[in-house]
Amino acid sequence: MTRKRAVIVGAGLGGLATSIRLAHAGLDVTVLEKNPTTGGRCSRLEVAGHRFDTGPTMLLMRDAVEELFSAVGRRLDDYVSLERMHTNYRIHFGVDGTSLDVTSDPEELAHNLDLFSPGAVPGFKRFLADAGYKYRVARARFVERNFTSIAQFATLPNLYYLLRTNTLRSLAAHAGRYFPDPRLQAAFTFQSMYLGLSPAISPAVYALLPYTEIAEGIWFPKGGMYALTQALERLALELGVGVRTDQEVEAVTVRGSRARAVRVAGEDVPADVVVSNADLPYTYRRLLPQDQPRRRFVSSRSLRHGCSVYLLFVAAPREFPQARHHTVFLSSDVSANYRAVFADRRLPADPSLYVCVASRTDRSLSPNGQDGVYTLVPVPEQTAGICWSSAAPELRQKVLARLQLLGFGDLGRSPMEMQTPEYLAAQYNLSRGAAFGLAHNFTQVGYFRPSNRHRSITNVYFVGASTVPGGGVPMVIIGSRLTAERVLMDLAHG
Ligand SMILES: Cc1cc2nc3c(=O)[nH]c(=O)nc-3n(C[C@H](O)[C@H](O)[C@H](O)COP(=O)(O)OP(=O)(O)OC[C@H]3O[C@@H](n4cnc5c(N)ncnc54)[C@H](O)[C@@H]3O)c2cc1C
Repeated sequence: MTRKRAVIVGAGLGGLATSIRLAHAGLDVTVLEKNPTTGGRCSRLEVAGHRFDTGPTMLLMRDAVEELFSAVGRRLDDYVSLERMHTNYRIHFGVDGTSLDVTSDPEELAHNLDLFSPGAVPGFKRFLADAGYKYRVARARFVERNFTSIAQFATLPNLYYLLRTNTLRSLAAHAGRYFPDPRLQAAFTFQSMYLGLSPAISPAVYALLPYTEIAEGIWFPKGGMYALTQALERLALELGVGVRTDQEVEAVTVRGSRARAVRVAGEDVPADVVVSNADLPYTYRRLLPQDQPRRRFVSSRSLRHGCSVYLLFVAAPREFPQARHHTVFLSSDVSANYRAVFADRRLPADPSLYVCVASRTDRSLSPNGQDGVYTLVPVPEQTAGICWSSAAPELRQKVLARLQLLGFGDLGRSPMEMQTPEYLAAQYNLSRGAAFGLAHNFTQVGYFRPSNRHRSITNVYFVGASTVPGGGVPMVIIGSRLTAERVLMDLAHG
């Protein structure tokens, strides 16, 4: 019997993880990637001898990655070495110049909180207990499963759990119930930006994000997050996956209700199954025939995208022993900052930002006596209003000034590179350059998120941040299991 051929468009973490699962299940798998290297958003950039992760810098929910390796009879530890951060991050509050170390040890964190905001600990403990409940319910009932019909999703128990996890309340309002101190409200809600959402519109269920950080830890792969990409690629190759880079797919060839091939550089690569790891709105708009009904994928205009990011990678000519691996700076007016990015779609006057100095943990990432400084600023996804050729140099100046205030000195003359939403759109074909994919507001999660299978082209599937269950490294890896399960179930049923 001939093996079924699966062609995967894109070698992001979602594409690689799906290729591993399908190859293990016996399919003949080819991955076609437009860029010269794999990893997509989880890639590597070299600047003046420093190695930077280009996108993700924090690994949460380690067990999701472990599951991928164990599902194919391997051990994660044999492919990549993970270290748990003791201090998750230091938060600097622009509003009054104070700072707080958020550790992954709840007792130590309670101690820090008590010093920082006397009387805050009981509220924190209740917040964490509730967030743990949200996490367990959300994962088991909504994240780890495929919903193929509204009837499967809208069951009475699920409706109960949606209400019980405060899905209809905003994360900002939720935190206000536990923390009278506005700084702590900000400290335990900014994490919604990992999903490209402001706390004001993020469902309260995403309190699960600070919970996973504290209770399960933030992990760092030795060699940087790119080591995870390398681990997945190595495993895929071991399982016989054909990984072809520098291959930009031009179209999926469809006849009737089935995809027959994937067209790349004029060649038709035959396929029994096509899985697109390229961003879902882009796939519908650019790779699939436009005359197909788009049930459950309404036109991209009515889809809400998450925010984007501006990234600055500075190869600093000296070390910063006082710097934390992860630092978060919260603007002096966090509400105005969120309003600018998420409502007004303009650049904030005093931006919040995140700084990663991974070479503090792994000295192999920077030359001796130097540190690499990665800065991420949340900004609106691509809109007509922002002209990045003039906005980017201005933002760079603001970031450098902020880094100076944070103790990094004057980095203005250091070698550096920056990336804007326009870059992300062109480099990874991300719709509107939205760094975290489609937003995760209530109407775009669970059953309501664009499905991982095309409704009318029955052998076309999706995996990655803009389909179910959502964005972020662990979610995309869980998503690869959901997608592979649908592929294999459909093949089993002919
Ligand atoms: C700056 C930044 C910071 C982040 N930080 C974190 C973090 O700390 N922790 C975390 O968990 N998550 C983080 N994320 C989110 C996380 O990186 C993503 O959710 C995840 O990597 C997405 O993986 P993916 O497989 O869905 O897509 P991608 O990484 O986008 O992969 C899709 C691949 O498809 C390729 N492709 C597109 N079109 C074509 C085509 N026509 N032909 C062939 N190939 C094509 C692209 O080149 C790309 O390689 C961050 C993201 C960004 C951008």
